Amino acid sequence: MSTAVGQFSANSGYSGLLAELRTAFSTGITRPLAWRLDQLRRLEALIQENTAELSDALYHDLGKCSSESWITDLGLALSSARSTRKRLRSWMAPERVRNPIALVPARSFVMREPLGVVLIISPWNCPLQLTLMPLAAAIGAGNCVVVKPSEISSCTSQLLARLIPHYLDSKCVAVVEGGADETTALLRERFDHIFYTGNPAIGRIVMEAAAHHLTPVTLELGGKSPCIVDESADLETAARRIVFGKFLNAGQTCIAPDYVLVHQSREQELLNSLKAALSEFYGPDPRSNSDYGRIVNDRHFRRLQELMAGGHVVVGGETDRESRYIAPTILRNVNLRSPMMTEEIFGPILPVISIPSIKAAVEFANARPKPLALYLFCQSREVERFVLQNTSSGGACVNTTLLHHANERLPFGGVGESGMGNYHGRFGFETFSHKRAVVRKPVRPEIPLAYPPYSKVKDFLLRWLL
Ligand code: NAD
Repeated sequence: MSTAVGQFSANSGYSGLLAELRTAFSTGITRPLAWRLDQLRRLEALIQENTAELSDALYHDLGKCSSESWITDLGLALSSARSTRKRLRSWMAPERVRNPIALVPARSFVMREPLGVVLIISPWNCPLQLTLMPLAAAIGAGNCVVVKPSEISSCTSQLLARLIPHYLDSKCVAVVEGGADETTALLRERFDHIFYTGNPAIGRIVMEAAAHHLTPVTLELGGKSPCIVDESADLETAARRIVFGKFLNAGQTCIAPDYVLVHQSREQELLNSLKAALSEFYGPDPRSNSDYGRIVNDRHFRRLQELMAGGHVVVGGETDRESRYIAPTILRNVNLRSPMMTEEIFGPILPVISIPSIKAAVEFANARPKPLALYLFCQSREVERFVLQNTSSGGACVNTTLLHHANERLPFGGVGESGMGNYHGRFGFETFSHKRAVVRKPVRPEIPLAYPPYSKVKDFLLRWLL
């Protein structure tokens, strides 16, 4: 019998849904490698067979062109499902570890076991990637899953709610659509793990609700990711890579450079290079360029318009309410106390701030909450070492932006205010697995050293062995 999500709602609550998923989990259906591989294959098919429709949904929600949809959502989700499938057997294998002498003879190993029923809450900015990548990890780890996509990217959410039950085992994977009410109702239930991606304010709500059931959480949050441009940087390359990282998805990317700190001796040169890169990427009129996205809704459009008051526009600044267009905008002479510099921008507005030294840049970044990413452009190993050793962030790139996210062998996640826990590749599998410690002893020989009655000889040996 499949789980009919439609019969549950925020009003009636989701305890029935959870009971059905728990029953399915308790049958052991999700544990075998074969089930997991089959579900991952189906997830790949979901993406491959519906690429056009999924791209259309992203276009409707965010004005993403199909190349950008592939870069930010579909390609990443597909390769994550595929690589999880290819490596899963080795990840699932019990991991033997050495024994301390006191345990010999014995075998010690770590077993990865599924957690049970997990909840994935995702946001609107990369709605497919941020739903399907954790889903691949959760299925790979052998869990039953409730997926709650964002109501703000409603076309994508509706499409996922239609496709997931069609492709995946609907006894074990359910999609709940909705916003705050539905999520609040879901959070009343006991899950075995909650994986939340979104803003830190809701992250706190999620963690509070999870604490009630002692449910562990992964929080993939956001923040203001600094981009430091040192005196030694190659500015032409830096500008192109900053513009790519910032204006992809119209700046609505959690790891987009939030602001630039540039050495004062090179501020003007960098501004010129940023301007040149913008015109190379989006032409003289980004509004009519189909490669450039739109703001997700009116609330975010208004918020971003207001943020612009925090500095002087160097390039861009144009807006169009009707189509929720905000031009790629670069600002200088920024008011550090304005909301633009105290809140995460999460849109196509890039403040450039000049600083007197690399030390000042590090102090600037360290005076603020730990960001999700930190970017450094420099050609000096000494500067690189100094910045990496004296700052903290979820991830970091030197001479590029965003790309630490694209390597599945690197953990992706925040630190401090930008989140807790991580995923991608094996790290995602680990997040959704319990590491169970197992020791197996042979029946013989029986060594009674640790058993009473104790003696001086035993004491001596115990102190030597332990
Ligand atoms: P959002 O508004 O879609 O909210 C995220 C999820 O929380 C949604 O599923 C939503 O339905 C749910 N939600 C909303 N109100 C709630 C409530 N009161 N109680 C419980 N759940 C509720 O997305 P957002 O938060 O605007 O997303 C943007 C933020 O997410 C930015 O801060 C960005 O940096 C961050 N982000 C982080 C990552 C990452 O990987 N670390 C990725 C993308 C976005």
